[in-house]
Amino acid sequence: MRQIAIYGKGGIGKSTTSQNTVAALGEMGRKVMIVGCDPKSDSTRLMLGGLAQRTVLDTLREEGDDVDLDEVMKTGSFGVKCVESGGPEPGVGCAGRGIIVSIGLLENLGAYEDSLDYVFYDVLGDVVCGGFAMPIREGKAKEIYIVASGEMMALYAANNICKGVRKYAEAGDVRLGGIICNSRQVENEKGLLEAFSKKLGTQLIKFLPRDNIVQRAEINRKTVIEYDMDAEQAAHYRELAENIDNNDMFVIPNPMTQPELESLMMEFGILD
Ligand code: ADP
Ligand code: MG
Repeated sequence: MRQIAIYGKGGIGKSTTSQNTVAALGEMGRKVMIVGCDPKSDSTRLMLGGLAQRTVLDTLREEGDDVDLDEVMKTGSFGVKCVESGGPEPGVGCAGRGIIVSIGLLENLGAYEDSLDYVFYDVLGDVVCGGFAMPIREGKAKEIYIVASGEMMALYAANNICKGVRKYAEAGDVRLGGIICNSRQVENEKGLLEAFSKKLGTQLIKFLPRDNIVQRAEINRKTVIEYDMDAEQAAHYRELAENIDNNDMFVIPNPMTQPELESLMMEFGILD
């Protein structure tokens, strides 16, 4: 069972990319569970056709401790098992708690079945702080992918995430599997992200173009894979899924210093 955490700056496309990738893996016949670790609880919406998944924390709050697995885990497209951790109200408490509680409950209820090929954690935020590193700290996610783009803030965030990942990697067996570029149509974006990945000691595992079909599918509460299986964007998500499925490059990242990152961005004309 490979357990994968997806990180990246807010709004970069983690939930969209995770769900489309998971859908493509499901389509390939892989058995997958996706665990939303964002208090926004929108990590499984496209897999469930918009069906509102009650979060683990809400279920525990409403039902007490006696909860059945099917109350917190729904089966979505391609047989993918879907869980939302949920979180505290904005500004109250730590979002990491929902993740620990969820992982603990899933474990007790036997959700981590041997037959699973993958568990994906769609994790909030750009800093691997105590809370958000939970899937790593709990010894679950061993494989990290970071979603980024050629925009400055996305690269800053990705580099910071690498600093966090490095700490856990040095202490254990957590590794970075690659950078996913979710394009913002920045000039020279692919070259920049390739150079960025190389500096970090990793690879650009996939360049995903920006395409409005992603929003059209989203309005229809579907992954692109289901909304239009013949779309070019669907093929891109399938390629990402295959690249992850075949990946054998797992590294301890070498984060850049701020001046190094800035000079790389200048080289590619992002900063002037
Ligand atoms: P995150 O989970 O990182 O906060 P989301 O996955 O919710 O980000 O994506 C934010 C928005 O960007 C969504 O409305 C989504 O439709 C859009 N989006 C993501 N990827 C693409 C893409 N490749 N092309 C066009 N729109 C995209
Ligand atoms: Mg999200």
